[in-house]
Amino acid sequence: LRNEVGRMERLSLVGQMAASITHEIRNPMAVIRGFVQLMREKSPSDQQQYFRIVMDELDRANNIISDFLSLAQNRVLTMEPGSLNEIILTIFPLLEADANMRGQAVQLELDDVPDMIMNEKEMKQLLLNLARNGMEAMTDKGMLHIATKLEDGYISLTVRDEGTGIPQHKIKRLFEPFFTTKQRGTGLGLPLCLSIAERHSGRIDVISKLGEGTSFIVTFDLAANHKEPRGRAYYETGS
Ligand code: ADP
Ligand code: MG
Repeated sequence: LRNEVGRMERLSLVGQMAASITHEIRNPMAVIRGFVQLMREKSPSDQQQYFRIVMDELDRANNIISDFLSLAQNRVLTMEPGSLNEIILTIFPLLEADANMRGQAVQLELDDVPDMIMNEKEMKQLLLNLARNGMEAMTDKGMLHIATKLEDGYISLTVRDEGTGIPQHKIKRLFEPFFTTKQRGTGLGLPLCLSIAERHSGRIDVISKLGEGTSFIVTFDLAANHKEPRGRAYYETGS
């Protein structure tokens, strides 16, 4: 009986996700439809502006689909020893270019951390998602801090911004699929980060102060991580 309940809960979670993704994709579709209809009637200068909106909404729908797939798909991942610092250094030029365009900067503080068993692509995605959120939270100039640290058998990756901070009542909802406060957000970035962290024996803590900024701290348990199967491993649906 207990098993059955567990199975039903799983099914209903998938059902719930399916229902919300339908809803989330319909929103941009409705906007696109409306603006395409308007474009037929309006002058070329207005059309230009509507064209932009239609493209943005198409991108958004596309982002929702690809984020959702990486979140919900069962898949085979290659887990191999790799260096977290190296991942950060590889992504750094990309982040810096993004930051510079916003008048922001990125600062690294990397401890000498040992290799972890990881899927490189997922670790990059984890870092990119946290860093992009940090930059998006800084409405003007600001510094994005990325740090690694080795402490008591744990490796931590901290991404800290000097942005708006997160009000208490929203912190609870951060990892809920589709929770977003952004016009073009998908609300799937953090749920994806959490499932990636968990696949790497990690957890995510959030420390935030309104008006001062936010730290996302991913802590990997090295002993548990080193027991992760190497080579190609089959992973089930993330949380
Ligand atoms: P998205 O970025 O598409 O909105 P996420 O799952 O990445 O989706 O983030 C969900 C929400 O969490 C964001 O819309 C934002 O309100 C909040 N959030 C995430 N990271 C930060 C941050 N560093 N500072 C402030 N708010 C944040
Ligand atoms: Mg995001």
